[in-house]
Parts: sequence; structure tokens; C-alpha cells
Amino acid sequence: MQVMPNRMDRGFLKYQEEFEEKALAVLRSGRYVLGPEVEAFEKEFAAYVGAKYCVGLASGLDALWLAFRILGIGAGDEVIVQANTYIASVMGITINGAKPVFVEPDEYYNIDVERLESRITERTKAILVVHLYGQASCMEPVTALCRKYGLKLVEDCAQSHGACYDGQTTGTFGDIGCFSFYPSKNLGAFGDGGAIVTNEEGIAADMRVYRNYGSEKRYYNKVVGANSRLDELQAGLLRVRLQHMEEITGEHRRLAARYQSKLCNERLVLPGVRERADSVWHQYVIRCGERERLMTYLSEHGIGSIIHYPIPPHLSEAYQYLGYGRGSFPLAEEYADTVLSLPLYSGMTEEEQSFVIDTLNRFC
Ligand SMILES: *Cc1c(COP(=O)(O)O)cnc(C)c1O
Repeated sequence: MQVMPNRMDRGFLKYQEEFEEKALAVLRSGRYVLGPEVEAFEKEFAAYVGAKYCVGLASGLDALWLAFRILGIGAGDEVIVQANTYIASVMGITINGAKPVFVEPDEYYNIDVERLESRITERTKAILVVHLYGQASCMEPVTALCRKYGLKLVEDCAQSHGACYDGQTTGTFGDIGCFSFYPSKNLGAFGDGGAIVTNEEGIAADMRVYRNYGSEKRYYNKVVGANSRLDELQAGLLRVRLQHMEEITGEHRRLAARYQSKLCNERLVLPGVRERADSVWHQYVIRCGERERLMTYLSEHGIGSIIHYPIPPHLSEAYQYLGYGRGSFPLAEEYADTVLSLPLYSGMTEEEQSFVIDTLNRFC
């Protein structure tokens, strides 16, 4: 049996008729960028998240960089972010000329709130919380520090569509929640897409201006903006998927629960589940001291696995200029050296998962 790390075709085939019908309707409509589908999706996604406003964008990275841009964060400013995130979180900060200040992760792969306050300086302007792998970060200490020091709070929810902390949906704790709809995300489009959510009308209005060359009225440009518009086809297809989010998230949770209860091998560290956090299990991430041998073993048995992420941002070539080296963030580095994401996707069969579980339990 072959089990791939992800099967995006399965997520399509499940609702194939609805997707095809919608695609055809959009193609025939003559409206292709920023039209009725985008407007409807923005309303529906805002309601899903429990935020007042949603603004559709071209990608998750755009959501992050435009979020910091609109909050007025740039050269000379510092933004605190966990050291073990996907590099796009950090790029959202540095594209604006601001400096990322890294914090080690906690045992749930989120920012370690115990280490947060000591990283705040006079130049700190914001905290970027990443709800990595679909599990919400611990939020009270973060929101309390933001109040105490007058900091902005941005959430990177690219992996946490619908995930909650204390019953509140991620993306609604701070000033701006940033989402990606890259095809492999839990709420995935069939191409690139992104959005921000916010409860502040001014932020939503600014974002609408920035995403469209800085213009509110055609050919009257207020600021130097971006071309970051969500297109009608993606918005329409996202609306179809959004209607099935409960089912899709339920699948992720059932698959994760099955891994949690059936995996039994002392060489593997299973993911910790944070109290009061309701994960949507974007990834199911284990750790193994002999990861390379494990990956080879799995691949010899026809099972694909992926490392999220092998190089922490502070060690990537792109961020050499920050001046960090090996040992700067030992925990983030240890995770990078040992984490492994197991196959988990909408449409994964019980047979496929049992095969992965049995194979893993026999690894010695
Ligand atoms: C996917 C992802 C992004 C970037 O989203 P894109 O739509 O690919 O630009 C940012 N942050 C995290 C944590 C992600 O997983």
C-alpha cells in the first residue's frame, strides 16, 4: 500500500459536483476579480470565525505583511514571534523592514509564554502568535502583555481555521487574524488565497485599499499598496469548502484521535494536547530522535512523511543577516531536527491509517 503525506485530490473528489458546478458558474459569470463571490465569502468567513470583518487577499504571506504595514510597523520596530514557525510568518515582519525577535516554543509547539515578557524592549511594537499545526496558543498571558505594554497583537492562523482557545476562535484575540487558503491548508482553495479578519472597521477599510494598489476609487491612489486580490474562482470554491468545514475538521480530529490512541512505540513522542485548546489538527506531528532512519523505514514501506520544518527561520540563508547561529534557539533547533508530520488529510481511509499505525508501531 502507498500512503502519501497528503492527498488534495481526495478533498476535491468528496465534493466534486459542488466544486465543478461553482467553477462553471463563475467562469460563465464574466466577473473574475473582486466580485460577488469574494463579497459573499468575506461575509461567510467572518461569521465562521466570529469576527466583524474579513478582507480577502491573494495569500497568507500578503495577509501578514499587509497586517503589519497597516498597523504602522516598520523600520526600527521589533515584533516578537516564536522561533519554530514557518518562515512566511517571519517574512511578514521583515518585508516591512521590522526586526523579528524570536522566542523559544513550548511543549505544544506554540510560543512559550513564560519566555515572552523578557524579550520585550522599548522597540517592541507587536506580538505575532502562530497557532502552529492547528493547535491554539495559550492566549491570556499574551493578551495581558499586549495590554500592559501597549503592543499590537497579530495572529498567524494559516494552519488554524476554526481552532479555538477557551471556545474563542483563533484570529479574534488580537487586532488582526491572518489566514492562508493555500490548497494544503484545512480550508484550502485550488490555487493561492488569503484573508485577514478583524473587529475594527478602520483596519478592514485600510486593507481593502492596500490590496488594490492603494486605491479606494479607481485611479485615485492614496498609498503605495499591493496587488493582492482574491479572485472570484477561488472565493467561490472556498465558499463550497467552507460549507463543509465542520465535516472536514471532524475528519482531522477523528484521524488525530486515532493516532493518539493507537500509536504505541517508545521511540516516538506523540503531540501534547493543550488544555482548553481545541485543535483542528492541520498536521499530526510526532518527534523521533532517529528521524532519518524512521523516514527511510516509512518510505521503504510506501509511506510518505514531511518535516515541518527542517530549518528554523533564524538558521535559514535568508536570515543570516540577523546574525544568529546554531545554538541561538536550542529548543526550536531540536524540534527542527526531530519533528515529523504523519499522513493526515480529508478523505484518508481507515485502512490507510491503520497501515501507517501498524508500520510505525513495528519500527524498532
Ligand atoms: C502557509 C503558511 C503561511 C503562508 O501562507 P501562503 O498562503 O502560502 O502565503 C504563513 N504562515 C504559516 C504558519 C503557514 O503555514
